[in-house]
Amino acid sequence: MAEPTLNSPGKHGDKRSIKRIMVSRLQHGWLKAMGVDVPWIAVDKSVVDSPNTSVASDTTSAPASTPAGSQPVEQTVAQSVAALPKPVAASSPDLVEQVPGPDLATLSLMQIAQAVTACQHCGLCETRRHAVPGEGVEKPAILIVGEAPGEQEDQQGKPFVGRSGQLLENMLKAIGHGRETSVFITNVVKCRPPANRNPKDEEIAACAPYLARQMEVLAPKAILAMGRFAAQSLLKTEAPLQKLRQATHTIDLGGQSVPVVVTYHPAYLLRRPVDKRLAWEDLKRLRELLS
Ligand code: URA
Ligand code: SF4
Repeated sequence: MAEPTLNSPGKHGDKRSIKRIMVSRLQHGWLKAMGVDVPWIAVDKSVVDSPNTSVASDTTSAPASTPAGSQPVEQTVAQSVAALPKPVAASSPDLVEQVPGPDLATLSLMQIAQAVTACQHCGLCETRRHAVPGEGVEKPAILIVGEAPGEQEDQQGKPFVGRSGQLLENMLKAIGHGRETSVFITNVVKCRPPANRNPKDEEIAACAPYLARQMEVLAPKAILAMGRFAAQSLLKTEAPLQKLRQATHTIDLGGQSVPVVVTYHPAYLLRRPVDKRLAWEDLKRLRELLS
């Protein structure tokens, strides 16, 4: 069989030949059902899904309809995705040859979310229930960056939906903003670390390209970094949070200098409400920057 290739216009309008990742019809069906339809994944019709690949277990997160052309299955989305070949570190060279990593530089917000949903670039993919790409308005006034999804977020696939989210919503209201109207909320790491442990350096590094591309596409007027992990990774520093809070920083986004305000993480504020007073100072500074 001739090797399938994907011809896509390169930066300068030239045609590049990119070898596709070949997956079985079943795996492709599940990816499509999840809304993952990236052009470098294609069906290999010669791969027949063995009935043994169906694993009876929790099917609550499975889509209602059976992917076209596949047998009815009792396989969760997470199991199907876990069965996929890794996009970059090809562990099976006969299946994946010279496959480029997703070219994030061209991805839209929706495509970033799709790539995150299927991502296996770090070990957190093995324990997550749902990846949490982030959500909010396009071209937001504020891009809010937290640490990593917690239990509720992992269950729902949405950022800041637990107790911290409630507090965040109130903090935003206090400066005249809201998650439905003027902000985009995401995290440094898009999958939940087991038992809410701190994200590891290698996990933050593996996930950083997604946040970088989100920042580029969103082009926010300002960024609010909440907590040590968000602040240190955005500002590429190991300085302590207290010190970072004391200044307004800037990040260059496509030639635009975007202010970054650092504040406490809402989960910390829930544990130490007395510091809400200090967070309020940070938020007022953010509001001034935006006015
Ligand atoms: N804490 C975070 O940092 N992010 C979330 O999405 C939820 C809690
Ligand atoms: Fe991929 Fe980021 Fe999730 Fe790791 S945390 S699997 S890099 S999306």
